[in-house]
Amino acid sequence: MAAESREQKKTRALKVINLLHKIYPDAKCSLDHKTPFQLLVATILSAQCTDARVNMTTPGLFSKFQTPEDFANADLSQLESLIKSTGFYKNKAKNIKAAAKELVSKYGGKVPQTMDELFGLAGVGRKTANVVLGNAFGVPSMVVDTHVTRLSNRLGWVKTEDAVKIESALMDLIPRTEWTDLSHLLIYHGRAICLARSPRCDDCQIFRFCPKRGVERNKSDRPINKPKASLKAEGAS
Ligand code: SF4
Repeated sequence: MAAESREQKKTRALKVINLLHKIYPDAKCSLDHKTPFQLLVATILSAQCTDARVNMTTPGLFSKFQTPEDFANADLSQLESLIKSTGFYKNKAKNIKAAAKELVSKYGGKVPQTMDELFGLAGVGRKTANVVLGNAFGVPSMVVDTHVTRLSNRLGWVKTEDAVKIESALMDLIPRTEWTDLSHLLIYHGRAICLARSPRCDDCQIFRFCPKRGVERNKSDRPINKPKASLKAEGAS
């Protein structure tokens, strides 16, 4: 693909987003939740774990503990056993309990609605804060996970694996009204078509707008699979 201007890149990005909206009209946050606090807990649990696994775990968890007060006073070992299947459960249980305590002591048991306040909670990084802001409070937010990182590089929108730089670059490239949806759309497309190991470029409806950066090709210009030994494990769902 010839060098494109900034305006051309923005136009191409909008075309991709419009197509993805048509392909995935129901794209939304994949973590089941009924309240901002439940989404906060589910997102902490989703680190290094699939959303499907988290969704299998949270009904049992939320039937035992409902409010931040419940979690703040929870027995740590009981909490650990309820979330064990999501992996890294000791750390996650400790963080969820600590975050719940902070919500109770600093925010009257409510989840705050700003990046600065959320980012200060135990176990809450920018990704978790953006998930909560965008999906619980409707604040336009750019969630950068493994899929968003991979696709925004392949699409030639960014050239970095640094999540903070990607977030900033995408916010600059994409209209604010599309920020939250874009994350969902890229995650859906990353799960269905633009797979980490073998992207299905031949089945991809946005291929006309994709320079396929970093996608290895063979002579027939088809994606090739790397030998299993050289594959890098994907960190998330
Ligand atoms: S054309 Fe290939 S690399 Fe580009 S978005 Fe589609 S599947 Fe991914």
